[in-house]
Amino acid sequence: VISMPSQHNLVLAIDIGGTKTLVGLVDAQGTIQAQRRLTTDITGTAETHLAKCMEAAKACLIDAGRLKADVSGVGVTVPGLADRLRGVLVHAPYAGWNEVPVKAVLQNEWADTPVEIANDVNACALGELTFGNGRKFNHFIWVTVSTGIGSGIVVDRQIFEGESMIAGELGHVIVEWENGMPCGCGHTGCLEAHASGTAIRRMAERTIAESDRGAELARFIMDCNLDVSAESVAQAARSGIKEALEIYETAGRYLGRAFSYAANLLNPGGIVVGGGVSLALDLLAPAMRKTYRSSVIGESNRRIPIVPTSLGYEAGLLGAASLVYHQPPRMLK
Ligand SMILES: [Zn+2]
Repeated sequence: VISMPSQHNLVLAIDIGGTKTLVGLVDAQGTIQAQRRLTTDITGTAETHLAKCMEAAKACLIDAGRLKADVSGVGVTVPGLADRLRGVLVHAPYAGWNEVPVKAVLQNEWADTPVEIANDVNACALGELTFGNGRKFNHFIWVTVSTGIGSGIVVDRQIFEGESMIAGELGHVIVEWENGMPCGCGHTGCLEAHASGTAIRRMAERTIAESDRGAELARFIMDCNLDVSAESVAQAARSGIKEALEIYETAGRYLGRAFSYAANLLNPGGIVVGGGVSLALDLLAPAMRKTYRSSVIGESNRRIPIVPTSLGYEAGLLGAASLVYHQPPRMLK
């Protein structure tokens, strides 16, 4: 039985992403007392990286002027499939890590401290529920739009995991049957293949390859000395380049389709969008909302808020902390 940490206590939060890792001390109000940022070194073993996280944790304790005894729990998010019950990172495709006993490794150092692990997307959903926009909903959907697309489903103020703990794969809902692009999962036409940061970059590359149509976009990206990416295409769209706006419009339309499927199934209180591409939610929103509204049933579904995360860059870190802080569900009404 894990007792609730008192508000004087801290949680050590470790958010291991594909490219960067954040380590921080988070209090019960969701305030980050100290944090360190590391590169996720995928050339070494996961154990080596966890050792670096432990060093960063000690540095955070010194920064915050706190003791190891003040830490009442450790929450870890991992970029892949996590077995919460065993505390094992089962598979992280990008890093190539398999069967890493994260909980056991951390408990060598933090022996009497509860250690919770979760997949990064579900942890973000729980972070939003505990500290962010999700506080006002009983049911909502968290969607990460980044290099890939993932989602976490919150039902009755807890994560809905599914029978085999793989629920929430909104990124692999098929949104394009006729002209589907290939997806990393082996299927074609998945949301991830049409609306992720990677999909936006590929659309831009195809546009640029058509020399007439893509000339203005190509020139903008070259003049700004940028790479072709979701961010540079967003910058081009904001400066009014039509082809860049159209790329975001296309991605927005596919997001609207997928969100309508999810809403018709779950009638959520809201949809919260995080991940790097959510910084361009304003560019996606017009086509996304139009498609969404034209394909959901029920006035309550039509009206639900589709909003960016309120947790910003640290969503994953707060998500990791919420693995320890999240209380048994108490419904809002
Ligand atoms: Zn897929």
